[in-house]
Amino acid sequence: MVDNKEPIFLKPVLQEKIWGGNKLETEFGMLLPSQKIGESWSISAHPNGVSTIISPKMFEGMGLDTFYQTYPDYFGGKVEERFPLLTKILDASDDLSVQVHPDDIYGLEHEGELGKTECWYVISAEEGSKIVYGHTAQTQEEFKEKIEKQEWKDLFLEIPVQAGDFFDVPHGTIHAIGKGIVILETQQNSDTTYRVYDYDRVDEQGHQRDLHIQQSLDVTRFPHQHPVLKDARHDIEDGYVHHYLSNDYFSVWKWQVDGQMSIFLDEGYYLVTVIKGAGKMRIDEREYKLSLSHSFILPFGTQEIRLTGDLELIASKPNRQVD
Ligand code: ZN
Repeated sequence: MVDNKEPIFLKPVLQEKIWGGNKLETEFGMLLPSQKIGESWSISAHPNGVSTIISPKMFEGMGLDTFYQTYPDYFGGKVEERFPLLTKILDASDDLSVQVHPDDIYGLEHEGELGKTECWYVISAEEGSKIVYGHTAQTQEEFKEKIEKQEWKDLFLEIPVQAGDFFDVPHGTIHAIGKGIVILETQQNSDTTYRVYDYDRVDEQGHQRDLHIQQSLDVTRFPHQHPVLKDARHDIEDGYVHHYLSNDYFSVWKWQVDGQMSIFLDEGYYLVTVIKGAGKMRIDEREYKLSLSHSFILPFGTQEIRLTGDLELIASKPNRQVD
């Protein structure tokens, strides 16, 4: 069956952050309105920053939130109250706060939005870059005690990272992206963050950002457990598909091609971002140019894509069933 639905290319929303920088311009060729851009919300229908459609022309300028509700056929016919996923590129020019996110039940009850499970693909990392990933406390009491005594070094688990690493960050995981790291983040469409520690930093007005110690105690998993990645790779023609994980919310892959490669897609719709290189994508008889940082959605019903060029892409697909 030939499907006429074309991929939906999106314009990102750029977000300023106190820990942001200019690598989205120097490494990704985006035009930045300031030198403190921390996040590009590349595929987003979140009310705090909605991506808008660039093409096809007939939908140009429409927000992804509106498009999702108005054209459910592109998403399999049935849609949720809110678009389920959010794809970001983050440039950490400084350390991000040490934080944790709630699960759906806690998030809905306390913040009026779903929880947040996320995962990261490390696009680039300066020499010596580190992340916080987990903690050493066996119990909630021990965690609380170490916070009160400010024993941060002892409490947080730090690990070195390099380009190409992948991290699964389920809700309840203590985490922080460290200085010098650029990542692509795939996450549930939620903006609820509980900060545990912010290095006692102040903004230009001398204010510290809020901490959320009680909420963090409520939602953190004790003891920490390192998630196990699926980590399955298979070669196709001049490239490969690397399947990192599938959880209740999403599946995530890297598609890498150096030449030509056809990918046959499982049923669903896909969120895709070009993280390296340039090339072309062919779907049925149509061809699309792909460049660094391009983000698009492959509509439900897309069965096969053919990639040509020197390209690395991160693709994700929502796993929640809409009923
Ligand atoms: Zn986070």
